[in-house]
Amino acid sequence: MTTTLSPTASLSFGVELNPQPLPPAERGAILANPGFGKRFTDHMALATWRHGEGWSDARVTSYGPLQLDPASAVLHYAQEIFEGLKAYRHADGSVWTFRPEANAERFQRSARRLALPELATPDFVESLRALVGVDKAWVPEPGETGEKSLYLRPFMFASEGFLGVRPAQEVTYCLIASPAGAYFAGGVKPVSLWISTDYARAGSGGTGAAKCGGNYASSLAGQLEGAEHGCDQAVFLDSSTHTTIEELGGMNLFLVYKDGRLVTPELTGSILEGVTRSSVLQLASELGLRPEERRIPIQEWKDAAAAGELAEVFACGTAAVITPVGELKWEGGSVDHRGPGHVDEVAMRIRSTLLDIQYGRTEDTRGWLTRLV
Ligand SMILES: *Cc1c(COP(=O)(O)O)cnc(C)c1O
Repeated sequence: MTTTLSPTASLSFGVELNPQPLPPAERGAILANPGFGKRFTDHMALATWRHGEGWSDARVTSYGPLQLDPASAVLHYAQEIFEGLKAYRHADGSVWTFRPEANAERFQRSARRLALPELATPDFVESLRALVGVDKAWVPEPGETGEKSLYLRPFMFASEGFLGVRPAQEVTYCLIASPAGAYFAGGVKPVSLWISTDYARAGSGGTGAAKCGGNYASSLAGQLEGAEHGCDQAVFLDSSTHTTIEELGGMNLFLVYKDGRLVTPELTGSILEGVTRSSVLQLASELGLRPEERRIPIQEWKDAAAAGELAEVFACGTAAVITPVGELKWEGGSVDHRGPGHVDEVAMRIRSTLLDIQYGRTEDTRGWLTRLV
């Protein structure tokens, strides 16, 4: 057993090395063409929380199936939260991550909403350091696309085997890691959106602002409906009036006006506060844009697109970074803000600004990067 511990972390992740790591040649083949979320590194981090005792048994161990009691509360009552961030290899071989404190704090907010225990920020960051330290060979070089990374997926769930309905008294924290290629294998291409009016992903007082699996489960029917209408993604509206834009199933949304306004739905309690969203808002003014957070009627999008006032629309999130949006469709209609020769100039400029910071290709003036290895 070897141990690493940063000075402020209270959990120490002991390391039990995988006796059968993937041979380097096979790992190399995966890193050459990683896709997204299909292959995982040789190890995972785990910790257990028990009511009255707190966190213990923190360790890095071989990646593999978990043993779960069939009565585990998560399988019945969906008491689960997760996070998503990435590890980036810089030109000098060092490995960094982007604003992990923001993810740690969101994980704590999600935990409070789902009645799960909080994991302190230093312990959250320590788990990333411990796993990426052991699996550093799995962090790809950025490659030709300049955007390969190691996707990190922390999650926490009710592992207590008990069918009574109350917050679980035994909870598991787990961190897994998956090499990720450019999200759009054939280059960035705009997605079409379906306005979901029959389904909402979240409602007032619900869990929309928490990053929990249940929100994704409830977004799938809307996604399917969109796919049946030939759309790539669904855009969800507020659940009470069905008139204002909230977000996609897993990405926040921005409208770019020709007059330089960069508008995104304000945080209403049912929208997930993306780290990418927050970073875009902070970068906006230095890119010559005027950020606005407010309620956006879906009618405003339709009207602005038809009137030629809308320059671009894009979605954002850690996995795909910035994704331009093209056509907007709904039951009985559609609109497309893109004229002939359209280029998503603003979306692509924000995209490369973010990627350049993340991969250390430009100076990190905001202290957004944390070194992991
Ligand atoms: C994770 C997530 C996002 C994007 O958040 P980032 O921190 O930018 O990755 C947006 N919407 C939903 C519903 C999400 O779960």
